[in-house]
Amino acid sequence: MISAQGIHKGFGGTPVLKGVSLELARGEVVAIIGPSGSGKSTFLRCLNHLETIDRGTITIEGEVLARSEGEARAQYVSEAEIRQIGRKMGMVFQSFNLFPHLTVLENIIEAPIIVKGMKRDAIVPKAEALLQKVGLLEKRDAYPNRLSGGQKQRVAIARALAMDPDILLFDEPTSALDPELTGEVLRTMRELAEERMTMLVVTHEMGFAREVANRVIFMDGGHIVEQGPAAAFFANPQQARTRAFLQNML
Ligand code: ADP
Ligand code: MG
Repeated sequence: MISAQGIHKGFGGTPVLKGVSLELARGEVVAIIGPSGSGKSTFLRCLNHLETIDRGTITIEGEVLARSEGEARAQYVSEAEIRQIGRKMGMVFQSFNLFPHLTVLENIIEAPIIVKGMKRDAIVPKAEALLQKVGLLEKRDAYPNRLSGGQKQRVAIARALAMDPDILLFDEPTSALDPELTGEVLRTMRELAEERMTMLVVTHEMGFAREVANRVIFMDGGHIVEQGPAAAFFANPQQARTRAFLQNML
């Protein structure tokens, strides 16, 4: 579904991603873990085209987003194609990024109307169904500042789903939440996983990674150090760096 090969990305001459490769199959849930500053967010942002890559190839459902040969800089397809391909991906951020001046419902229907040109009559029932799904239908007309962090994040998930993405990217979706609110967000994500939503999740929640992810990837210093099926990864990490990281987390 997504293939990233040899992704390099630097900022101002400082390399951040040093050849990261990932293949993600339909219905797969992959957790990316690793220390702060290891390039996890940058990698997600490159996949979602919030950052351009320097070198490497990104393919989404067989459509090439960017590609480079050898040492050459990556070439992107046209802006129109990028937008088209980008619609296949939804992203959920640590900081929710809801529009404060819009109600919950308006937050969810905004992009389908503006970006996809959907009719209000068509998207409102769908938005309501998504709110029902994340357990927040009664907050339909509330403004984000009336919601808890966990509720905001569940709205953000509903908003991403309203665009019918083929894959959802999550960047530390529970890191900004008080511990008692992380459970409700993780529960929503677990339900999506059970429905076979394809998900790539950067997280510090080792319990979630172990129980929900099919595969776990450990990143450090701009590299994938180790990856494997979740159970094996946690039971028997191969690399010293992975073991040291897990020892601090568990
Ligand atoms: P992680 O998500 O694993 O904590 P990030 O991808 O956010 O790591 O950051 C990796 C490195 O890239 C850090 O050293 C960070 O300071 C740097 N970095 C990320 N984004 C930018 C940017 N826009 N400009 C300059 N440096 C950046
Ligand atoms: Mg990050």
